[in-house]
Parts: sequence; structure tokens; C-alpha cells
Amino acid sequence: MNLKVITLLVLTLAGPLMAAAAGDVHSSDICAGFESGNVAGDNLLVIVNKDNENKLQRSWAPKDLVYFKNDKSDMISPAAKGVPQALRKEAYNAVIAMFEAAKREGHTLYVHSSYRSYEDQCLTFRSKISKWSGKFGKEAGLDYARKSSAEPGRSQHQLGTTLDITVASVKNSSGVPTFSFEMTRAKEYIWLQENAHRFGYVLSYPWADDDHDKLGYNNRTRYYYEPWHWRYIGVEAATDFYERNRQASTSGANIVLDEYLSRLLR
Ligand SMILES: [Zn+2]
Repeated sequence: MNLKVITLLVLTLAGPLMAAAAGDVHSSDICAGFESGNVAGDNLLVIVNKDNENKLQRSWAPKDLVYFKNDKSDMISPAAKGVPQALRKEAYNAVIAMFEAAKREGHTLYVHSSYRSYEDQCLTFRSKISKWSGKFGKEAGLDYARKSSAEPGRSQHQLGTTLDITVASVKNSSGVPTFSFEMTRAKEYIWLQENAHRFGYVLSYPWADDDHDKLGYNNRTRYYYEPWHWRYIGVEAATDFYERNRQASTSGANIVLDEYLSRLLR
């Protein structure tokens, strides 16, 4: 059975279950109730975020996805083994070069999560609604799900250029990358901060403490801090972005990725 068939099978089996769990959806379409956006994601510099005008189409998917095969299985985090991992060709080649360069300097990095289809996002978001509604009640649960994860079409992971990176020293029960990636000052994270741009990668959701709860909520990205979440935008743009922030670090006038991309695309 190939990956596509397995994925389809999982979606087919899980769809009605998840829909039932969400409570108010009666269609077998796992994405029923979610509205498609209008944006195509081909341009490496496209903006994808919580604004309606920056929401990806349900029908858009990358055309040049490359799957991490068995010979690259040592690049996948143990917790993510068994889940198909893929990136667009350029981002895939770049991450391999980046991980190899890190390794030469003694740092072992792993892919924890990479491409997510629109349907994957529907499945994930429904499970979040179900989880948090069970905990906080229907309305508050939906609100929390929206703040802590991306609704379908709003995830940079759909672009096929974005991945979550983890390291062996991050050890929570499921191996999911957590704040400890940065909070423990993992040397691998510091390496990424200094070097990822040379391979075209940038950090999408930097730290801020705009709600003063020390969890890193950033009003400018509208996400909590995600030290594991890196997006490929090409070496030229990534280096320019890195340099601007480096020069700004003394004045504090830093710039977040979407602000940078909107200037480039203007
Ligand atoms: Zn991510």
C-alpha cells in the first residue's frame, strides 16, 4: 500500500469519527464547515496567516513535494516515525544541507513535522476543538483552539516549505518539541538562530510577551512563541531578513516575518 492510499484510508476512517466528535458537523467531508481561502501558495514569499485575505485555498497543494524516504529516516524524530514527511524540493534540499552542516559542528537536528495537507489541518483542528470544548465548553473551547493552532488554510505547513525541528534533548512524553527547545538554551537552537538563514530558513513566530503571561504570545504574529517552527523563503530573502534583525537588535526595532514579506511583496 503506498502512502497516498494509507493517508486516504486514515482520512476516510477518521473523518466521520472526528466530525461526530466536533458535534455539529454531519457530513462525511472532514473539511465541512471550514471555508476555503483564496490564496495559492506557489510563491516562496507568500503570506499565510490569520487574516482572511492570507488564507490558502483548499484545492492548492505543492506540486513538487519530496518525501523523506528510508535513507533519510535518521533525520526524522523518533516520535514522528511512521508519519509521512515531505517538503517542496527546494526546501527539502536546503534542510538536508542545513542538518548536515549542523552535524559537522556536532549538532543533531530532527524533522518533527513538515508538510500538512488542507485535509490534515481539518482533522487536526477538529480534534483540537473537540479536546478544548470538552475542557472549557463549546465557545471557549473553539476560541482556545483558534489561538493555539491554525484553522485549515491558515497553516504555513500547507506550503510544504515549513517544518518543526526538534532535538534529542527535548523529552516530553510524546517527543513533541516544546518551549524547552529554547528554554533549556539547547545549543542546537542557538546554532539555528545563527545559521538557518544561510540555508534559506527563518523563524516564523518569535518571542514576545504581549499578554504578560511569560508564554511568549506575540501580538504581531498572533501566535505564541514557536522556537521549533522554521520556514524556507530562499537564501537571499532569509539572509536579508536575518541581517535586518541583527542590525536592529540593539535598537529593538526588529521585524517579524509577515511584516518583512509584506514589504517585499508591496
Ligand atoms: Zn509548525
